[in-house]
Amino acid sequence: MDKDDLLLLQKKVTALRAEGKYIETIEACFHLLDCGLKVNDFKSILTAHINSAASYYCIGEIEEAFISIDKYEEICMINGDETDKLNSYNILFLLYDYTKEFKKAKKTLEKSIDLGRELKRYNIVSNGYSNYSHISLIENDYAKALEMAKLGLEMAGLHVPESPILKLRVKLNIASAYIGLGDFVTSGSLINEMIHNPILELFGREKSQCYVLQGRWYAKQNLTRNAFESLSIAKELVESYNDVYLLKEIQEERCELCELMNDVSLGYVVQKEYITLLNEISEREIAMLAQRLEVKHNIATIERKSNTDYLTGLYNRSFIEETTNEWLKQASIKNESIVCIAFDIDNFKSINDEYGHLFGDEVIKQVSSACLSSIRKIDLIGRFGGDEFVILLKDFSLEDGKLKAEQLLEIIRDIKLFKDGNTISVTASIGVSTNADCTIMHFNELFNFADIKLYEAKQNGKNRICVLN
Ligand code: GH3
Ligand code: MG
Repeated sequence: MDKDDLLLLQKKVTALRAEGKYIETIEACFHLLDCGLKVNDFKSILTAHINSAASYYCIGEIEEAFISIDKYEEICMINGDETDKLNSYNILFLLYDYTKEFKKAKKTLEKSIDLGRELKRYNIVSNGYSNYSHISLIENDYAKALEMAKLGLEMAGLHVPESPILKLRVKLNIASAYIGLGDFVTSGSLINEMIHNPILELFGREKSQCYVLQGRWYAKQNLTRNAFESLSIAKELVESYNDVYLLKEIQEERCELCELMNDVSLGYVVQKEYITLLNEISEREIAMLAQRLEVKHNIATIERKSNTDYLTGLYNRSFIEETTNEWLKQASIKNESIVCIAFDIDNFKSINDEYGHLFGDEVIKQVSSACLSSIRKIDLIGRFGGDEFVILLKDFSLEDGKLKAEQLLEIIRDIKLFKDGNTISVTASIGVSTNADCTIMHFNELFNFADIKLYEAKQNGKNRICVLN
């Protein structure tokens, strides 16, 4: 895979996420990561991690999102640039906001604001302050919320080109903070100014937020009828883009207002709408859960495929190598013996030549399953392409390894295949090695010794075993 292919994959990942196809994004990220790791392309690796983090967040799989962002940050620290770091703060803030870890959320925002200032990315700085203000509002710290939102407004003013919506977003927080502080005059005139801002016609979400705010402004002053009307406008606006969680908040507030107004019939209508909404939310959550399960299942399949050999289902070389290296590390601590058995079918080329490649495949499969059933669950068996196999036996003495090899030799000799009226039997040559009192720390070395012995077995006439002294 060359640079252009990787670029295409990166674009695919970004496009899928922009389309809201989160499951497909995660799968594409998996592929991109795999390819990126093979050629050490950091941009691909970072793109894969950040997009899977964002997609996991969008389907509510928060734990996985944190794992992806952790991996992203690890690589970002060494190989990322400043923009890469800003991207991670962005996602990390969303995650902490979701898990209600507000202290960490604020720390993340502080980093994002500092870096944004350094890079003169004033829209990001303004959003950072705005989000900080939002968290302070949740914590009922209205003075802080006001301070942060005002800084956000100042920063929005520095953004080029001028962005009215950026300013309006921070003003929403300023008005909320003033309401919290009980200053209804300042908040009232701000809300009024925002509601009459023509830019709102282009931004439905912000428009609805203005009306929610107006509703709360009225409600705080016990102007319940007016509050109800503002929230009803907000409700219709939110329904058009269907943010069910914001709708839920609005409906709860509308129900409360009906009670305060003592309006039983209106209360009945709102209650009914509310119940329908709750049902919709629960259906959505079930669908989201199903999505999460689907993603887990698909990824397990991808992982299994990338760890195994397509023909036999046995492990492939990279998996065996990685796992054995782990085993060897542990074995050196526990002083454990590990045995490696390498074997290769004898004269396999002539089986292929005489009976065809498909029949050869059948021989490989039979040998695989016979050997697989003769080892323990904890052992590893893999096929290294062609007709060569390897078995790793954990906590196994060389003496027992030799006995196991003899047993395998018998098992393979016992395999009988039938073709064109002929009975075909198979033999193999086997080499055995061990980690030699824990002096061997890498799979390649351990395997190499077994392979040398396998070669010796072939040289000595095949259909036999040779064991490392
Ligand atoms: P030796 O006893 O020395 O091992 O001789 P051999 O004929 O078995 O020689 P070798 O192990 O070098 O040959 C392996 C052959 O396996 C070569 C290749 O054409 C064939 N082969 C590799 N992969 C596959 C496969 O997936 N299916 C089949 N049917 N044949 C394969
Ligand atoms: Mg062979």
